Amino acid sequence: MSKLNGKVAVVTGGNSGIGYASAQELKANGANVIITGRSAEKVDNAAKELGVKGIVADVSDLAAIDSLVAQVKEEFGKLDILFVNAGIFQPAPVGQISEEMFDHQMGINFKGALFTTEKFLPILNEGASIINLSSVNAYTGMPNTAVYAASKAALNSYTRTAATELAPKKIRINSVNPGPVYTPIFGKTGMPEEQLGGFAEAMQNRIPLKRFGQPEDIAKLVGFLASDDASFITGSEYNIDGGINVNPLLVD
Ligand code: NAD
Repeated sequence: MSKLNGKVAVVTGGNSGIGYASAQELKANGANVIITGRSAEKVDNAAKELGVKGIVADVSDLAAIDSLVAQVKEEFGKLDILFVNAGIFQPAPVGQISEEMFDHQMGINFKGALFTTEKFLPILNEGASIINLSSVNAYTGMPNTAVYAASKAALNSYTRTAATELAPKKIRINSVNPGPVYTPIFGKTGMPEEQLGGFAEAMQNRIPLKRFGQPEDIAKLVGFLASDDASFITGSEYNIDGGINVNPLLVD
């Protein structure tokens, strides 16, 4: 029997990258999956490819999250797996951080993520699993990532507090901290192709396992944390980064 049979899962930002691969993994393990995203066309296309339900919902709009929860409740009743994955990466150097960029990035990566959980709580089943997609950036001083890193550090802090408070309801909540993973996220930063290539090469050389992660690498961990195999795990964080976080001074 598949380990997620009979479970209902929501994956925010499930039309691309890590969310897409995770939706595929959760479905392959038997879950009934709903993906969300901002663009109706992209959500529809991905939902068709994956053979799952697609719902358009911008996580920076709290009313849109309310509507998402209402639609999931109406069609599926209760939820067992909530993968809070939607996020953006907007680099900017210290000294050039605009209020607009701060609000936008925090609004999706922290406020949007936090309220996704807050608003789904009333329909979460006992024994449900919440997985927050964070980043190793929460712990590094990587240049140009001050706001992005803070948004993920804040999310991990919420994970810890929520784990304690939700434990009496047997709801588990954990964070996954990937290192660099090949997804479309970097192309959305507006950085020129050449600069992105240089960044990728420099980064890859610093990763002990000498490669970027693939979305499927992260999806496997998400599938595990979503399942009852992880029933004694809550309030934890998992670095999944080819070892970069333990060896930042690696030379070659
Ligand atoms: P991606 O750009 O392929 O996917 C991001 C998804 O989030 C897309 O589906 C997008 O539509 C959705 N999204 C963005 N803003 C949204 C909003 N306001 N409302 C609803 N959906 C929204 O990138 P990815 O790399 O798969 O990113 C997924 C998560 O992984 C993000 O939280 C990101 O911060 C995190 N992450 C990525 C990496 C990496 O190297 N790719 C590393 C660490 C963490």
